[in-house]
Amino acid sequence: MSHTATTASTPETLRARAVELDAEHAATDRRDAFVLPDGVVYLDGNSLGALSVAAREATADAISRQWGEQLIRAWNESGWWTAPERVGDRIASLVGAPAGSVVVGDSTTVSLYKAVHAAARLRPGRTVVLTDPDSFPTDVHVTRGVCEQLGLTLELVSPRDAVTRLEGSDDVALASYSHVDYRTGELWDLAAITTAAHDAGALSCWDLCHSAGVVEVGLAVGRADFAVGCGYKYLSGGPGAPAFIYVAPEHLAAFTNPILGWNGHATPFAMSPDHVPADGITRARVGTPPVLGIAALEGALTAYDGLDMGDVRRRSLSLTGFFVECLDALGVDLPVVTPRDETRGSQVSLRHPDAYAVVQALIARGVIGDFREADIVRLGFAPLYLSHEDALAAAVHLRDVLDGREYERPEFATRAAVT
Ligand SMILES: *Cc1c(COP(=O)(O)O)cnc(C)c1O
Repeated sequence: MSHTATTASTPETLRARAVELDAEHAATDRRDAFVLPDGVVYLDGNSLGALSVAAREATADAISRQWGEQLIRAWNESGWWTAPERVGDRIASLVGAPAGSVVVGDSTTVSLYKAVHAAARLRPGRTVVLTDPDSFPTDVHVTRGVCEQLGLTLELVSPRDAVTRLEGSDDVALASYSHVDYRTGELWDLAAITTAAHDAGALSCWDLCHSAGVVEVGLAVGRADFAVGCGYKYLSGGPGAPAFIYVAPEHLAAFTNPILGWNGHATPFAMSPDHVPADGITRARVGTPPVLGIAALEGALTAYDGLDMGDVRRRSLSLTGFFVECLDALGVDLPVVTPRDETRGSQVSLRHPDAYAVVQALIARGVIGDFREADIVRLGFAPLYLSHEDALAAAVHLRDVLDGREYERPEFATRAAVT
């Protein structure tokens, strides 16, 4: 360990620095918009975003007034039918996409299936789909399934090697990657991989589960072809919130939804047995949207009203950077897996042989993070409701858990179903 506690890094000077940084980033502080229990430092907004006041109110209104009083009239009177596109437009503005290119509705898994399947079919004659072997497992499963169904070959290539694999090739139909690695927090170069794919005549698809709402994604400037993302992580749409799918405007006319449902039909209420796809992003819809889930998500997204994603990203980098600075200053000697430079999302992942128990011991102290196989302590910093003071508090708790070997207590060893 190269760092020792000097006068430049005593808890008092760290606290003063935290206060200073919080003041510097005051314009992006939305803590008051969220409902968090006292005494909790919530570092799991990358797994289940915190409840916001607006999400709670939107859900209560959707249940009591819309469902309870308007009944079936709410499909028109409360805009239930058009909610997938309306909320899609809100998300589009956060991920650098034009209005009319994003729709919400299905899970991330199903959305990815639609995107990968449709994208692969736009490159007939090409036989290979690239994805990351270290992706979140559902991404690998879905991509493998699509390849089996379409008679294509799944090639597992790290995003680190994707540009090299694509250069000079003519067999790849699609490069499908996560923007941020869910485990390590590495941020991959969406524009560079997309450009390499295009130069090789291929398309790109991006999973934004760990970048939407915290990173300036830049789908349009990066010329991404397809993307999907999660509603219940940093976007705080609530447990099981609907995901979103992006189809670049130039692909919409040729986009064929692999699930031809009535919601993607040009005239759903004509009740015709012939399938005529709707114009625009509506053709990416499938069946009746999860109205209550969309209501919560729509409420949650108001937390971003008036915020610039560049400022949100700067706050996020400042929080994670300061947290690592605190770990160094406090002498917490765990390997930091997440890049220290700016090629990271909004989390800090650390390695520890007893990572599961370390996370449990932190939770017992009110610092809620999560564990990821095999030895990762994963701490997500949702920028809108976390402060630099929270980051310092979390670092101090982590130091105390390690110094006191609290993770060795037997009660922290038992694994629950959801880790
Ligand atoms: C969270 C996450 C998912 C979740 O998919 P669901 O269909 O919502 O279960 C998928 N992919 C990635 C990369 C994720 O981080």
